Amino acid sequence: MIYLDKKAKIDTLTTIGNRLAFKEDIEQLKSNNNYSMLLFDIDNFKKINDTYGHEFGDEVLSTIGKILKTIENREISIYRIGGEEFAILFTHFNENFAMESCEYIRKSVENIHWKFPITVTISGGFSKAVKNTYAECDKRLYKAKNSGKNMIIYQYINEGDIK
Ligand code: GH3
Ligand code: MG
Ligand code: MG
Repeated sequence: MIYLDKKAKIDTLTTIGNRLAFKEDIEQLKSNNNYSMLLFDIDNFKKINDTYGHEFGDEVLSTIGKILKTIENREISIYRIGGEEFAILFTHFNENFAMESCEYIRKSVENIHWKFPITVTISGGFSKAVKNTYAECDKRLYKAKNSGKNMIIYQYINEGDIK
């Protein structure tokens, strides 16, 4: 039973936590105001699939999963929460450390050498724990997509700022 339970929370392609694991872990963190979150999404992934094939798209996903695994530890949890969307939970908040980790991920992905002549980038939204942290990260991610991509947005965004 325990084995099955564990298996149900792992994404088979990247072997990192899946959306269910993310949801459960967020629930656990509700009493902890000391965490922070990064949501990120691969830029122009549909075009990558369309140009180089779905199999290569899968390779991109699993390679990004491998990079995330190198930073995973007791205080950093990683998840694939959707097709090409990932989340990271920093469970003990140290804003500078978490932001440095986010930039490390963004740059690491940008610097991967692929077997095709492309650069793969990600866009993300980061937030410390607030009332609805997920929504805040999502707003910032959306802003990053509309501001040229290949960036992570960290600061507060007024509703009116989002176009
Ligand atoms: P944006 O820069 O705005 O994020 O654009 P995008 O093209 O990345 O986003 P869009 O939502 O248009 O496309 C996402 C694509 O991701 C479409 C879908 O086929 C692909 N995708 C989702 N899951 C998988 C998967 O497991 N493997 C592969 N190869 N592709 C996937
Ligand atoms: Mg997406
Ligand atoms: Mg995308």
